[in-house]
Amino acid sequence: MESILHLPRWDGAGMRAKLGQFQQRLQLQQRLELMQHRLDAATAGEQRLISPLNFFAAAAVIGVAAIVATVYTPAYVVEMDGIVLGTVSDPQVFEQAVDRVEARASEILGYEYTMEGDLNYEFALTEPENITPTAQFETYLFDQIGEVMKNYVLTVDGQFIGAAQDRAVLDGVLEQVKAAYVTENTVSSEFVGTVSISHEYTASDVNQDTTAMFTALTANTNGQTVYEVQKGDTFMQIAMDNGMTVSEMEALNPGVDINKIYIGQLLNVKEEIPFLSVKTVDNVTYTESIDCPVVEVEDDTMYQGQTKVLDAGTPGEQVVNADIAYLNGVEQERTILSTEVTREATNKVVAVGTKVRPSWYPTGSYIWPVYGTITSSFGYRSVFGSYSYHDGLDIAAPYGTTIKASDGGTVVWSGTGTGGYWSFGKYVVIDHGNGVRTIYAHCSSLLVSTGDHVYQGQAIAKVGSTGRSSGNHCHFEMQINGTPVNPRSYLS
Ligand SMILES: [Zn+2]
Repeated sequence: MESILHLPRWDGAGMRAKLGQFQQRLQLQQRLELMQHRLDAATAGEQRLISPLNFFAAAAVIGVAAIVATVYTPAYVVEMDGIVLGTVSDPQVFEQAVDRVEARASEILGYEYTMEGDLNYEFALTEPENITPTAQFETYLFDQIGEVMKNYVLTVDGQFIGAAQDRAVLDGVLEQVKAAYVTENTVSSEFVGTVSISHEYTASDVNQDTTAMFTALTANTNGQTVYEVQKGDTFMQIAMDNGMTVSEMEALNPGVDINKIYIGQLLNVKEEIPFLSVKTVDNVTYTESIDCPVVEVEDDTMYQGQTKVLDAGTPGEQVVNADIAYLNGVEQERTILSTEVTREATNKVVAVGTKVRPSWYPTGSYIWPVYGTITSSFGYRSVFGSYSYHDGLDIAAPYGTTIKASDGGTVVWSGTGTGGYWSFGKYVVIDHGNGVRTIYAHCSSLLVSTGDHVYQGQAIAKVGSTGRSSGNHCHFEMQINGTPVNPRSYLS
C-alpha cells in the first residue's frame, strides 16, 4: 500500500505535488463524494494526507467534523536536508530517535557522534496509521552515518568474533572450524557454546577478516601444552608440576616410555582446548577380536600359584557398529549399536598347580639376614685411598649372631672359600630360583649343607670374621643372573 510511510526518500517537491492533487479533489462540487472517497481510499491505498485548511473547510461544509476528527490527527511532516522522512505526532518523537541513534553510534564508534542536518517540521493532518514507526527513522538515520554499517555479527558465548556483510561468509568460517573434525562417517556435529549471528549496526571498519576469525575460534585456551624435558626432570615430577597424575599425563603422551625420558624431549602436559569446541558423532563399523575364554585345568605336579598355558586358543572375531562421540577429535564415549560374531573364540586352556608349596619355597620377597650397622654400602667405596667396587652390604653384628636365610631356596654352597672366593672365608650361597642368589660371607660357623632346602628366616650361619675381614660382620650379597645388585632395593 502506497503511503507516506514508505516515502522517506521523496523530495519535498514530489510531496507537495501529491498534496496539490489531493486539494483539487476537495472542490465544493465534489464534497458529497468526500466521504465516499475516504472509504475508497482506505481500500485503494490513496494518499491520505490532507492540508489543515482544506480539512476544516471540508468538515464545516459537510458537517461531519466529529466523524472526520476521529479519522484525521494533527501531525508533522519531518524534513531533513529537504528530504521528507515521515510523519510524527510530535517533533519530540523524531528528536528522541536522533538522540538514540547518536547514543548508539557513539557506543559503536567509541567517540561522541553528533548528526548534522537541516530539520524542518510542517504541520499536517493525517490518519493515525500513517504516523511513521520510530524504527524506520532510526534505520534511515543509521544509513546516513558513513562510519556505521549494518553487518552480520558473529559472537561466541557473547564474545565478538567478527562481522560480514554477507551472512554466508560467517557460516563459511564456522563450517571451516567444524570441518577439521568431520569425517566421512560423521553423522552429527555441533558446537559447544553459544554461537550467534545477529544483524546489527557496527563500525564500518569492524573486523571482517575471515582468517583472523578462524584463528580466534581455533586458538588454544589451555595455555602452554608442550613441555621440553630439562636435565634432572622425571616424568612424575613434570606431571605433578602440571597438576596431573602420572596416568593422566601418560594418556596425553601415547608411545612415550615414562622411565626413559630424555633432555630436549617434547611432552604434552595439557590437552589443547580450542576457543570454540566441536562435538561430533561418527557412526563406524569395525572388526575386533574376541578374547579366548580361559579354562583352568588342575595339575598336582605343579605347586600352588604356578600356571602353565596348555593351549593358547584362537581369538574370535566380530563386526561392531558403534556411534563414537568425540570432543575436538578426542573420543569421549562409544555406544555399541550392534555386534555380529563372525568367528567364535576357542578356549584358552591353562594348567593350575594344586601341589602344596614346601616351606622352603621362595616367597619372592627378601628379609634382612641379620640386623646391625651398615659399615659398607653397595657400590664404589674408598679403601686406603683407592676406589673399589663393593658387591654387597657389610652388616656389623656381634660374633655368633644368627644369620637367617633372606628367602627360601636351595643351598648351593656352604663351606670355606677357595680360589677367587677365598676372601669370603666361611660362606653360604642360596639359590631362590628365577636367577636370584644370595650370599652370606665371613661366617664363624655354618649351620646348613650344600643341597639343603632352607625356608625364609631359617638360621643358616653365625656372624664371624673369617676370610678377608677386619671385624665381625656379615657380607650380604645378592645376584641376579650372576650380576651383583644392590640388596637394599629388594630387602623389606
Ligand atoms: Zn663386604
